Amino acid sequence: MLRYQTVPVTPFQQNSSIVWCDATKKAAIIDPGGDLDRLLAAVDKLGVSLEQIWLTHAHIDHAGGTGELARRLALPIVGPHPGDQFWIDGLAQQSRMFGFPPAEPFVPTRWLDDGDSVTIGEETLSVRHCPGHTPGHVVFHSASAQRAFVGDVLFAGSIGRTDFPQGNHQQLIDSITQRLWPMGDETVFIPGHGPESSFGRERRSNPYVAGT
Ligand SMILES: [Zn+2]
Ligand SMILES: [Zn+2]
Repeated sequence: MLRYQTVPVTPFQQNSSIVWCDATKKAAIIDPGGDLDRLLAAVDKLGVSLEQIWLTHAHIDHAGGTGELARRLALPIVGPHPGDQFWIDGLAQQSRMFGFPPAEPFVPTRWLDDGDSVTIGEETLSVRHCPGHTPGHVVFHSASAQRAFVGDVLFAGSIGRTDFPQGNHQQLIDSITQRLWPMGDETVFIPGHGPESSFGRERRSNPYVAGT
């Protein structure tokens, strides 16, 4: 069984998620944007063994702690999609712009593409490429747990911003309707900010994508 705990980090209250395989207690951390000591304390308390870092996209609040965490614990960095290379290159500038501590640079161990999968212990999640908020944004979907970790693609009642360089509103809508909705109305998603919701609820009530 896949389990997870979400820990809001950084001044942007970004939902970093610790996900683990209940059978093996092997864990991955999704989007360690910062506040690493708080994240590692949560990992310790859960009694799981942190083995990988998974990234949805390379905005500072999601990826800012990646370089330091990977170096400290010798963890592989999985994702995002190569379309976000320019955001990784710009992490130092993002740190200054948003008043974050300087982000250590990093190079993903493995880039992700649509249709890939990631595995932690006995749990496998599928990867969908969902550009629009950033060109290299990916989401992680566990069909067995009916959970999706969607970063800044979709929120409860809202959608990701598309006014950044290489953001694209129509592409974001297409990502949501063509790559998220097929995961099923009952699927619960963990957004990059704010509370969880289900795809069915957003299809009914989210003003940006209702009825699509
Ligand atoms: Zn973002
Ligand atoms: Zn964000």
